Amino acid sequence: MTKNRGFRMDLHIHSMYSGESLADPRDILETAIERGLDGICITEHHSLYASRPFERLKKQYPSLVVLRGVEISTDAGHMLVYGVDDTEWDDWGNSKPVNGQELIDRVLRLGGVAIPAHPWQVMESAGNQEGLQFTVDERISTLSNLTAIEVCNGKQLGHPSICEILGAYAKQMGLGGIGGSDAHAPENVGNAYTVFKTPVCSSRDLVKAILSKMYYPQTS
Ligand SMILES: [Zn+2]
Ligand SMILES: [Zn+2]
Repeated sequence: MTKNRGFRMDLHIHSMYSGESLADPRDILETAIERGLDGICITEHHSLYASRPFERLKKQYPSLVVLRGVEISTDAGHMLVYGVDDTEWDDWGNSKPVNGQELIDRVLRLGGVAIPAHPWQVMESAGNQEGLQFTVDERISTLSNLTAIEVCNGKQLGHPSICEILGAYAKQMGLGGIGGSDAHAPENVGNAYTVFKTPVCSSRDLVKAILSKMYYPQTS
């Protein structure tokens, strides 16, 4: 890491262990290094256990920080969860409907942080208009104890206005804004990422860094 470029971390990646992705873990790690990332976080759907093979594999790529989180579907949209380890996670790693507010509060109590992923929606009135118009997912406005939202998601790159809308919302609400590729294929790793002011070397560091709000989202 050089002094001025910050610590670049893609916080939202799916591998073949996510069920809907075909991305080989080794290809993900190699692409991350090629793209100049300093770290990544694997966020499989509803399972921290699924990404365990990365623990063994990452030892072969010591220049890259590899962490694991999860992505959980809730009644307030998808949430990225960081900093909650296997044992503490057990109750939430199943397919039962999850209440978004309960998830946020419980994860905070466990020393982690839960962040709404891609919290945008297409405006209802945009149906027949040329080009789509977007707005913030209204479900997140009802949530309390939020720390940050995912402002830049790699799947939104065709619609840069989404990043702008979510960035403005985060600023207005005093929330941090993270970036993650949401890659389901290795070539998309690093399309969006988060730039931290200081290095993030562990899940504990990551939670601390996210709570500090000293970071910004970036796309490439
Ligand atoms: Zn999602
Ligand atoms: Zn995702």
